[in-house]
Amino acid sequence: MNPIAMHREFRDPAGHRDPLCPRAITLVLRVLLVVTFLGILSQGEAAPRKTRNVFFITTDGFRWQEVFTGAEEALMNKTNGVANVEELRKQFWRDTPEGRRQALLPFLWSVAASNGQIYGNSNKGSVARITNDRKFSYPGYSEFLTGAADTRIDSNKKIPNPHTNVFEWLNTRPGFKGRVAAIVNWDVIPWILNSGRARIPCWSGFPLQSNAPAIKVSPLVEQMLRDTTPLWGDMILDTFTIRAALDYVQAEKPRAFYVAFAETDEWAHENRYDSYLHSAHHVDRFIRDLWETCQRIPQYRDKTTFIITTDHGRGDGTNWTSHGEKTVGAEFIWAAILGPDTQPLGERTNCAPITQSQMAATIAATLGEDFPAAVPRAARPIPDVLSQVVK
Ligand SMILES: [Zn+2]
Repeated sequence: MNPIAMHREFRDPAGHRDPLCPRAITLVLRVLLVVTFLGILSQGEAAPRKTRNVFFITTDGFRWQEVFTGAEEALMNKTNGVANVEELRKQFWRDTPEGRRQALLPFLWSVAASNGQIYGNSNKGSVARITNDRKFSYPGYSEFLTGAADTRIDSNKKIPNPHTNVFEWLNTRPGFKGRVAAIVNWDVIPWILNSGRARIPCWSGFPLQSNAPAIKVSPLVEQMLRDTTPLWGDMILDTFTIRAALDYVQAEKPRAFYVAFAETDEWAHENRYDSYLHSAHHVDRFIRDLWETCQRIPQYRDKTTFIITTDHGRGDGTNWTSHGEKTVGAEFIWAAILGPDTQPLGERTNCAPITQSQMAATIAATLGEDFPAAVPRAARPIPDVLSQVVK
């Protein structure tokens, strides 16, 4: 409806059109308000989002196979590094894929599956894949954080990422400045975020770029980290990451928060299928801890969307320890999204494929923000995540 046309129809009691009549203006404003409200109701995409905060959580190199079918029987043996086969079977082996995945990832297959969507079960016609052809970490983190693959990224070296990432961009948006942060556990991630340029406060357990804003974690976490014999040179245990992340959420209440876990990848490289499963099981609980912490804090309760994914897949069967350009199948990943604006469709089947590059725009879109409009190289958000909740 054209508001000018409406205004022109308004006449005073004497029948004269008076464009400055206060009653006319009040009436027009009221009608406009009603029309705008009805317009919002009739357009699902334009409905105001409930999401005010977004948490992006990744666990490095965790396969879609375990996400959807749980522990793999052919790998639960000494050849694949399992120290106590009987114990591992007792904890994670069940007769059905549904039983196994529930035992391994109980939060994902209860709270996330009933409140959100899980993509990537190739066995059921849901494909999630990376678009970079490297199939290792830096290219994957860069793809999901910046919204596009870059063929020039060909190593995991600490090279500052030239591309704008979604957290960096959110940090410039009204209401988000200074409310964006990252707690990670691989020493290269701050360079992938280019946290110095992006002005994103970070903690990785390792030194940051000299110009990067640093998060100070609690003295207890620092002490325990110092007192723990390092297992890997560039990675701290997920134990420290979740503790630092939970502390940060409660103290600083970030609105856009990135948490990265990584033990899953390290244990796989070490051919320890038992530790790989245990670390995935822990990550599932860590995500539950973050979710339940959010539900106890008014700023977050029913106003926070979680997006959970991985940087790359791994090989099939006994090739499970590997990934990289030559590893067939390592291009397939998975993703889970849950929050107040996500339709609760659970495990997705027979749906359009999604890509790793869509994560950046999806993170922004849950907040009603349009990342590809500002960064045109970024892929569009996953459409089904954003359609209006039907309950
Ligand atoms: Zn790896």
